[in-house]
Amino acid sequence: MAARSLREFRSALTPPAAAQGPVFVFAFRRRELLLPVTGSFAPVDAIGLLGVTPERTHYLGTLGETPCWCVEIAPDVEPPAGMAFRDLRALYGRLEPEVQDAASRAVQIVEWDRTHRFCGACGAPTVVEERERARTCPACRLSQFPRLAPAIIVAVERDDEILLGRSAHFPPGIYSVLAGFVEAGESVEAAVRREVAEESGIEVGAIRYFGSQPWPFPHSLMLGFQADYAGGALRLGDAELEDADWFRRDEMPSLFPGNASIAQWLIRDFVERGRRRA
Ligand SMILES: [Zn+2]
Repeated sequence: MAARSLREFRSALTPPAAAQGPVFVFAFRRRELLLPVTGSFAPVDAIGLLGVTPERTHYLGTLGETPCWCVEIAPDVEPPAGMAFRDLRALYGRLEPEVQDAASRAVQIVEWDRTHRFCGACGAPTVVEERERARTCPACRLSQFPRLAPAIIVAVERDDEILLGRSAHFPPGIYSVLAGFVEAGESVEAAVRREVAEESGIEVGAIRYFGSQPWPFPHSLMLGFQADYAGGALRLGDAELEDADWFRRDEMPSLFPGNASIAQWLIRDFVERGRRRA
């Protein structure tokens, strides 16, 4: 059996009985994480030492041996001296990977808690369950769980080329792989075929699972695939993309900088496979 990583995350609903010592506190003001102005995320001795009063608090589990909490800070609260609220999206790729993953959990739990205080069916105030991550309505028993929206992201490959597109909201000149949400009742494989066809007019053949990434903006789970070109000519669809094209490994367009997203991992994998063959 593989040894457990020192920084493995273990989810839990209740903190250890005799918890003492440092804790990680992921304090969010909406989607902004409270960080020291130095930008380094470090454990503190207690939530109370953060210098801000939380609206709500949830225990998350342990990162390595360190208990983790997430707290919601009211939108009008200013950061204490020496601290700053930083947009989580802008921090992606800058935090340690394990800390980033824990922050991704934290922001989604905070957001779920903030937006499910009332029952979606009857409007009664909900209460936090003790035995699972849910808020339940005492009146009609509807349970509301943290929301997850599965989305597919796919590198369509044709020999030495990859299909990339650009949305109108991308920075000028930037291209990336195609992506879209899985519809209710749809398999992820069907979603891959549908999204590629809708956005580009291209049909895909064999589909291979690549990997996944939680993407808490606001609550996606990105499921990555590589797919082989099977047919069709490029034809832009329902205005989701303003351009799409095939790009050779040695003639790639401008890409998003960094290596923090599964889109970038898919593109890098495509480019490096060519390099290994060269
Ligand atoms: Zn209800």
